[in-house]
Amino acid sequence: MPHVTTDATKLRPWSGDRAPAGWGLGDGQAIPWEYAPAPEARDVVAIKDRYGLFINGREVEASDGAVFQSINPATEEVIAEVARATTEDVDRAVRAARRAQTRIWGPLPGRERAKYLFRIARILQERSREFAVLETMDSGKPIKESRDVDIPLAAAHFWYYAGWADKLDYAFPGRVARPLGVAAQVIPWNFPLLMLAWKIAPALAAGNTVVLKPASTTPLTALLFADVCRQADLPPGVVNIVPGPSHIGMHLVSHKGVDKVAFTGSTAVGKLIQQATAGTDKGLTLELGGKAANIVFEDAALDQAVEGIVNGIYFNQGEVCCAGSRLLAQESIVGPLIEKLKDRLSTIRVGDPLDKNTDVGAINSRAQLDKITELVASGVAEGAELYQPACELPDRGFFFRPTLFTNVAQSHRIAKEEIFGPVLSVLTFRTPDEAVEKANNTPYGLSAGIWTEKGSRILSMVRKMRAGVVWANTFNRFDPTSPFGGYKESGFGREGGMHGLHAYVRLEDR
Ligand code: NAD
Repeated sequence: MPHVTTDATKLRPWSGDRAPAGWGLGDGQAIPWEYAPAPEARDVVAIKDRYGLFINGREVEASDGAVFQSINPATEEVIAEVARATTEDVDRAVRAARRAQTRIWGPLPGRERAKYLFRIARILQERSREFAVLETMDSGKPIKESRDVDIPLAAAHFWYYAGWADKLDYAFPGRVARPLGVAAQVIPWNFPLLMLAWKIAPALAAGNTVVLKPASTTPLTALLFADVCRQADLPPGVVNIVPGPSHIGMHLVSHKGVDKVAFTGSTAVGKLIQQATAGTDKGLTLELGGKAANIVFEDAALDQAVEGIVNGIYFNQGEVCCAGSRLLAQESIVGPLIEKLKDRLSTIRVGDPLDKNTDVGAINSRAQLDKITELVASGVAEGAELYQPACELPDRGFFFRPTLFTNVAQSHRIAKEEIFGPVLSVLTFRTPDEAVEKANNTPYGLSAGIWTEKGSRILSMVRKMRAGVVWANTFNRFDPTSPFGGYKESGFGREGGMHGLHAYVRLEDR
């Protein structure tokens, strides 16, 4: 139950509720609700002052001894120093991965590989609290999301692909599935451990070894994962982790010693990687940006839709490739829907990501905060109407208020560009055809949401949406058994499910 106090000076009013008679607050006055702080303990994870690279099963310094700092975006404090890989380190990691693939991991029977993956899954579950706290400190995401979404889903991917490791003959009937070899994997900062799991679990299940480069602002859970690999007795060289700047990512994906490239990140970098791998025989999967439409029809259950809209755009501060950043509302219900949405926004708690009550944490970096601020200013300048709930932001750290734009035109930048922040642009439509037209009017094609009571309408809309994932009467649901990926500038290839295995095997005739 929320803690109620009458010291209004310290409080953030919850405008959603009116004071009942007898509370002495005056008719219609906002109730000064506040939640008591519920901070998660930091000391559940032993954070080292300095982390090395993980190459050939060992933690090593960078060849030139250079380090960079990983900071906590909620406090701007340095969490740890991390070795910054050089091109020479990447070469070493690729050699180690090749040796491990040809001598140990590739020839190992699937049932033996499965044992290691099951062990990794179990250790991730056992150490989940440690991972959740570190992920929240390094990325800024609320602890309730790292605890309930990121870490359990990361473990679930290892469980799931562990199950496939000895069943490749069933996944690809009548064919022989051979590993591709060494996989170069580059991941972004928004779901650091989860993206690592999406990449490493299917690669290892299929008999490949990996060299993974985490994003520079969020390397720490990948390096804690290195510790899990050691704990699981994974043979040296099967997993290698090389944090570093963008040119290290480019060196890795262009490396002659890699057979497969898997990238998740921005469309701009995805295009560079596609150019760099063109003309080679490397397999390539690209999971890129998005600008998803969340479409609400007039017959939808509005209260549920409001929850789905909020989850769609404010989950993980909106730093989600498949975020429902464009709300398409049918004209007849746009008024009541926006009213309900504004009411709901006033209850969202923004603040300390380690507090278990926090809904929206810190933006991942100063650079990302600047990008969001600039795009929001462009929305105002272009004539859209801005709404932000009254909420206090912490004095330090990179925070941004949940934001809602109405009066948005399709030509506005906030309707076209991926903001990657807690910013929702509301557009309207009259007919289902117009909804389809507007939803697909984007260079992206990653995801979409449909809210309606009518099953037949869901089926007909799903067929017309150019989006890799379409959620009906829900949003941002993920499962390791379900493939995920995009169309158009959102990339190609699928991760998750059997489709995710396909990207890591070469199929031969029996
Ligand atoms: P980014 O493209 O800047 O960086 C992603 C990774 O690529 C980082 O590790 C970065 O160091 C590395 N990198 C940067 N430049 C590189 C280069 N020239 N060559 C090789 N590697 C390079 O993206 P970001 O800002 O970290 O992440 C946000 C983006 O990721 C958003 O556009 C978001 O939509 C996208 N994303 C997509 C998915 C998906 O599944 N489709 C999931 C999460 C994030």
